[in-house]
Amino acid sequence: MKKNGMDQRLLTDRLGTALSLLYPPHCPVCDRILSPFGRKICAECAGKLPYITETKCIKCGREVSSSARLLCDECTRYPHVFDQGLACFYYTGGVQQAVLRLKRGDRRDYVCWMGECLTRLAGPLLPVWKPDLIAAVPMTKRKKRARGYNQAELLAREVSTSLQIPFEKDCLIKKRETGDQKELSRAMRTRNLAGAFEASGKAAGRNVIVVDDVFTTGSTMDAAASALKQAGAHKVYSLCLCLVG
Ligand SMILES: [Zn+2]
Ligand SMILES: [Zn+2]
Repeated sequence: MKKNGMDQRLLTDRLGTALSLLYPPHCPVCDRILSPFGRKICAECAGKLPYITETKCIKCGREVSSSARLLCDECTRYPHVFDQGLACFYYTGGVQQAVLRLKRGDRRDYVCWMGECLTRLAGPLLPVWKPDLIAAVPMTKRKKRARGYNQAELLAREVSTSLQIPFEKDCLIKKRETGDQKELSRAMRTRNLAGAFEASGKAAGRNVIVVDDVFTTGSTMDAAASALKQAGAHKVYSLCLCLVG
């Protein structure tokens, strides 16, 4: 029995090796082929990632102009429903292209590196956030069927596995299509999203981290947080890969 287990493991390892030789991993940022047994991102891209590193707004995680300021201009003017949020990168250059390829080009192979970035960002905050579960900004069933996957859900699942916090798929659902928000003003985004999300009782009394790929004005995260809070969630935290600066 033990021997079979070892044989199985050996076979799995060899299969993994054969697969990485057949389909070598790509750098998520520049999409060049990486060494199958090397790092998840090439050294050149790793050295110039658009990290959000300076003093951050305590609400949305955007850089603020001076350490004396707690909130950014946006958060001063437009209070958010979620309690606190963070993002890894500015939505620009190679990282922006990576997100677009993930969404439109079926590059699910990038999710492992992206999930790692999100995990590194959220890890130090766990003692403060005390999250009970992880959710993703949902898509309507129809849109997910058409795309085949929801990139926010893939990222959330990676974070859930690394942080060992349960991912609750049905905790948050999107009831209706809201169209492309890109050209809409902040007020129009909020109106467009009103009542689009619904949260289940699983969120009641819980602290929830909601994962998304891009944070723009925060309207989507606020609509998600609003549904979660209506369902009784205690705290809602936003964790996004990118933030539109
Ligand atoms: Zn690269
Ligand atoms: Zn802010």
